[in-house]
Amino acid sequence: MLWLLAGAALCVQDFTWQPATPRQGTLIVVSAPGAITGQVAGEPLHFRDGKALAAIPLTTSDSIRVQTLSIRWDGAVIGHSAFVPVAERKVPVNEQVRADDRYTAAPDSALEARIDAERVLSRDAARRAHMVPRLWSQPFIRPRSARITSLFGSGRQVNGVWRTRHYGLDIAGPKGAPVRVANRGVVALVGHFFYGGISVYVHHGDGLMTVYHHLSRALVAVGDTVERGQLIGKVGATGRVTGPHLHWGAQYGTVSFDPTELLKLP
Ligand SMILES: [Zn+2]
Repeated sequence: MLWLLAGAALCVQDFTWQPATPRQGTLIVVSAPGAITGQVAGEPLHFRDGKALAAIPLTTSDSIRVQTLSIRWDGAVIGHSAFVPVAERKVPVNEQVRADDRYTAAPDSALEARIDAERVLSRDAARRAHMVPRLWSQPFIRPRSARITSLFGSGRQVNGVWRTRHYGLDIAGPKGAPVRVANRGVVALVGHFFYGGISVYVHHGDGLMTVYHHLSRALVAVGDTVERGQLIGKVGATGRVTGPHLHWGAQYGTVSFDPTELLKLP
């Protein structure tokens, strides 16, 4: 039924999207000739030659609203919207992670203030991703070619306590192993964060940002332009971790999605 409705929406709306039924935590391409902007999940769309990327939040249930604004032949600005059906992401829901007890103990007020301040920094970097023009033209690459040890979206218990879903992809590596940036961009944020450990955030433009957590060292500074595949840090075990690995995250504005989606972009 939902599928039939979506099919009808595809016909009557002035835009289409691919894939027709995206999964939770993925990217879609919205095609709308003449569109100047739009929004999905509260994030603005950046149209280029009639196409824009949008991210489907991991927490979306059933469907998500896509809105566009287009200029008609007579100059009038016309809004369009449709509900895109969203399929459930099937991932392990009960991963067990062991970490130092300080990561599961109730934070004292000083630690709570630190965690809040770090959340503001990362949210601010996410919002600023929309102000950066597109800086990449080649395909995205994986920051390490090693084995994947935890998937995006898995549910987790840390030290037996239920925590949120896993908003990134974990890639294996010993301490000191190279971490390469997934594509050309500008370094937006570098710091040593309570949960993320030593982290590098990179803006790629048009709302896209990639994140590299738990490093032993960061080799870049805020404002640096980085080329695709450039060494930006070394694998480590800083922050809330079981052992050394790279946590690779991807965001469209403030919406986290599966980083492997980037590897499929044309
Ligand atoms: Zn992770």
